[in-house]
Order: sequence, then structure tokens, then C-alpha cells
Amino acid sequence: MRIVLLGPPGAGKGTQAVLICKRYGIPHISTGDILREQVASGSALGNQVKSVLDSGELVSDELVMKVIEDRLQRADCAQGYLLDGVPRTVVQAEILQAFLASSKTPLTRVVQLEVPEQVLLDRIRHRGGAGARTDDTAEVAARRLQVYWTQTAPVAEFYRNQGALREVDGVGSVEDVSERIFASVDG
Ligand code: AMP
Repeated sequence: MRIVLLGPPGAGKGTQAVLICKRYGIPHISTGDILREQVASGSALGNQVKSVLDSGELVSDELVMKVIEDRLQRADCAQGYLLDGVPRTVVQAEILQAFLASSKTPLTRVVQLEVPEQVLLDRIRHRGGAGARTDDTAEVAARRLQVYWTQTAPVAEFYRNQGALREVDGVGSVEDVSERIFASVDG
């Protein structure tokens, strides 16, 4: 099962990704997590991307896709995986598609979590406090949403045009939303 989970910041992708991975027994691959780990470890890559992460902008397609191609070649991805936070641009979607075609391992499902903008802004604001991310200030959150609409929303169009997109209502309890996702993945 090779799944891409799409949706705007604050849509609940991270929470749902954990539940999807548990159900299907696949690793959760979040480019945001990988990049934050790099920043925390103080690696050269981490130092290169820290200011970009803190600003809410996207790191370069080339860098992210190199990271993801390396990750997908690891043994734990042989039976599938869930991608969370990637592809984030149409260029990334094209690179991923070409890469997966070359290994004859196309995506099984592309699921888009649909959440209205006002709900997203409220959720992002409430993410502050304990364990808050440095990119969760109101200003950066607004920028991340803007970046989403201009650069990432077209990724859903890319998959929709291929007839591959499954849209799921992301408003409701965590359990309700996960049941909808499972039905969409299984159906
Ligand atoms: P996330 O945890 O998915 O919200 O990602 C946090 C930050 O990491 C984003 O705001 C970007 O700066 C960076 N990032 C994560 N994934 C990508 C990606 N696929 N392409 C470019 N930048 C990314």
C-alpha cells in the first residue's frame, strides 16, 4: 500500500497519518519530520534548511526529492509507505511519479483531506503552547496557508486530472475522519 496524504496545514494530516500507518502496517514518512530532525541534529542539511522552515516557505524541490528518494529505497518501504507533506509542488509530484514509474511501484492511493480555511486557522492557532513548533506563530501559519494555496493545492489538481484523487471530509472527530479515510483507501 503506497499512499499519499494531501491536505492544507492544520487539516490533521499528522494525526491521521499515524492511524493510517498503524492500520496498514506501513511506515510514516513525513518530510517535515525528517527536515526538523536534521535541524535538531545540527547537520549540514539541517543548517541549510532551518531558516526556510522557520519562515513557512518551502525548501527546494531538488533537496526534498533527494531526501525522499533516499528514504523510499530503505528496506522498510518495500511493502509500502505513507507520504505526509510531500509532494508539496507539482514539480515534486512529477519527480515522484517518474521515480515510482522507474521502479514499477506506482502509488496505490492519493487521499486529500478537505477542511475549510476558517477551521484551519483556528486549529493552527490552538497548536501553540506546550510542544509548539517554531513555525506555529500566527504570522508564519498564515504564510504556510498562503504557500499551500499557491504551490500545493495544484498538486491535488495534478492527481485529480489523472483520476487518482480521493477526497475525504476532514471535519469531525479524529475517529470519524479516520473511518472515512479507511473507507476511501479500502474502497
Ligand atoms: P510540515 O511538517 O509538513 O508542515 O513541514 C514543515 C516545513 O518543512 C514546511 O513549512 C517546509 O518549510 C518544509 N517542508 C516539508 N515538506 C516539504 C516539501 N515536500 N517541500 C518543501 N518543503 C517542505
